[in-house]
Amino acid sequence: MRYISTRGGIEPLGFKEAVMMGLARDGGLLLPETLPTIDASVLDRWQNLPYQYLAREVLSLFIDDIPENDLEDLVERSYANFAHPQVTPVCKQGDVYILELFHGPTLAFKDVALQLLGNLFEYVLTRTGGSMNILGATSGDTGSAAIAGVRGKGNINIFILHPHGRTSPIQALQMTTVLDPNVFNIAVRGTFDDAQSIVKEIFNDLAFRDAYQLGAVNSINWARVLAQVVYYVYAYLKLRKTGSDSVDFSVPTGNFGDIFAGYVARKLLPAGCIHTLILATNANDLLTRFVTQGDYSRGQVIATSSPSMDIQIASNFERYLYYLRDEDGAAVKRDMDGFAATGTLDLSRFKDRVARDFCSRSVSEAETNQTIGDFYREHGYLLDPHTAVGVKAALELRDPQRPVVCLATAHPAKFGAAVAKAIGSEPTLPPALAGLASKESRCAILDADTAIIRDFIAQNALK
Ligand SMILES: *Cc1c(COP(=O)(O)O)cnc(C)c1O
Repeated sequence: MRYISTRGGIEPLGFKEAVMMGLARDGGLLLPETLPTIDASVLDRWQNLPYQYLAREVLSLFIDDIPENDLEDLVERSYANFAHPQVTPVCKQGDVYILELFHGPTLAFKDVALQLLGNLFEYVLTRTGGSMNILGATSGDTGSAAIAGVRGKGNINIFILHPHGRTSPIQALQMTTVLDPNVFNIAVRGTFDDAQSIVKEIFNDLAFRDAYQLGAVNSINWARVLAQVVYYVYAYLKLRKTGSDSVDFSVPTGNFGDIFAGYVARKLLPAGCIHTLILATNANDLLTRFVTQGDYSRGQVIATSSPSMDIQIASNFERYLYYLRDEDGAAVKRDMDGFAATGTLDLSRFKDRVARDFCSRSVSEAETNQTIGDFYREHGYLLDPHTAVGVKAALELRDPQRPVVCLATAHPAKFGAAVAKAIGSEPTLPPALAGLASKESRCAILDADTAIIRDFIAQNALK
């Protein structure tokens, strides 16, 4: 399997190179040259596989430059830290199925991808004799999942900036109580935007970036999307076993990452297996406007109770645009250049095609709060605010002819305050979070000054 850029400007690469490159050199995103497909006989063969075995089967359709035994070992180690034997179990609650993606070490769905990505980085670096310094900014979830993915690895150091005092206390502790010597938390005296722009400036310093082998773990890495394709197939097979050949999924999304994985899964499976992908957004409704009106234009970021979806530029959107543009890299480049310049992109002429791939709804704060409360009273099951956005969209848009699977992207205890507002009390902390406050923590508190932070990285980086 070779990988190409959505903007058509690079020579095809192998999977390992694609993982190490992250963003394509021409500014585009990496995608397989052709998307693999399977037929129903393969589904029969996969039907009863445990998660890890299924993951190996799905991944090997996209990866041909890692020997089978090595891939098996990578997958095994990546999901060994999940607290549930099924890794991503499915349960039925009332009219919907819930796909629980929060049993990883940091209790959010990003673990599914970042546990694998950390192991892939280590695997490739061990063989090339290289090292890497990962740099990123986080408002909460991504940072802790990235740290959990690479802690303790010998050839990787990780530097994660978060806004001092502005993440939830639990989110900060999930990062700062990781004491492995390769983990460097930096609390920036400023906002998330300050942290983010410092990271961008440092990445744009090409001499520094090359000297320290800076790497990123943001959601544009193809391996992250690929790891997420697996749980769609896994959940589909669970429902197929109960007699449902055609299933819908509801996905709370902001960056278009998780829903794009669903799109790849839908192309992989025989036609009709995944019928509709419901794209759920919070008050930041950029993607809903795109699906319902063909209008892709940036707005102001609104702070909500589902902060991991408070996004106005969907970093994975370009991957879908590539297919909408019939795999024409030059057209994608024109579109994205236009969007960068004006902040808007009129795709209304593709509306009918988009409507065959997705339906979408934006869910308000009041609806999110109401859904958490109603769902708890009716089913005794607690939703985190991100999951509640997807459940509300599913309840509104689902077709009673088919089952709908709602992706549960975070454990409710991670967003205890929002849950308490809906049900009157904080959820009980699971063991992974309960002891955090009394643990030792380590964190550098630095001014929001690029030079100071660059110096800190230079002093602590692997060379
Ligand atoms: C990151 C995140 C999302 C959104 O994921 P996308 O990659 O934007 O689709 C949803 N829920 C939670 C809890 C997250 O951490």
